[in-house]
Amino acid sequence: MSQETKPKAPLSIEGAIILPYRYAAGGVMSRFLIALRDSKKTLGIRCSRCNMVYVPPRETCLHCFGRMDEWVELEGSGTVESYTVVRYSLPVHPMAAPFAFALIKLDGADTSLTHLLGEIDLEKIKVGMKVEPVYSESRKASILDISYFRPAN
Ligand SMILES: [Zn+2]
Repeated sequence: MSQETKPKAPLSIEGAIILPYRYAAGGVMSRFLIALRDSKKTLGIRCSRCNMVYVPPRETCLHCFGRMDEWVELEGSGTVESYTVVRYSLPVHPMAAPFAFALIKLDGADTSLTHLLGEIDLEKIKVGMKVEPVYSESRKASILDISYFRPAN
């Protein structure tokens, strides 16, 4: 590569894709989202063979492939299992940077939920910290009906 074509800095190209879409949430996810919207309840689903509780719920167990239909209501609080701090903003982000995404294992669940952390000093996030949900005032049957999780007292 000649010196004239060798980039001195990474090239950034502006673009925009507008892609409205709609998909069916399915019976299991619909029940989960409606409970969140209408009652601020967090539902999980238990595999009767493995005893695993999934949040968000799914129809089929990842371990035994059995169909699940045993619903459990969780408190909604949980523990940060992992996290990342996002330091740049994109139009698709649910909040302005800087902010943190976390894997949160809800109390009573065996799987983790990916969600936002809020009301928190980003430099003080710790794996293992207890968090609780903060619900949106205008809920729309979306996972963002939980606005974010904040440190629990
Ligand atoms: Zn199972």
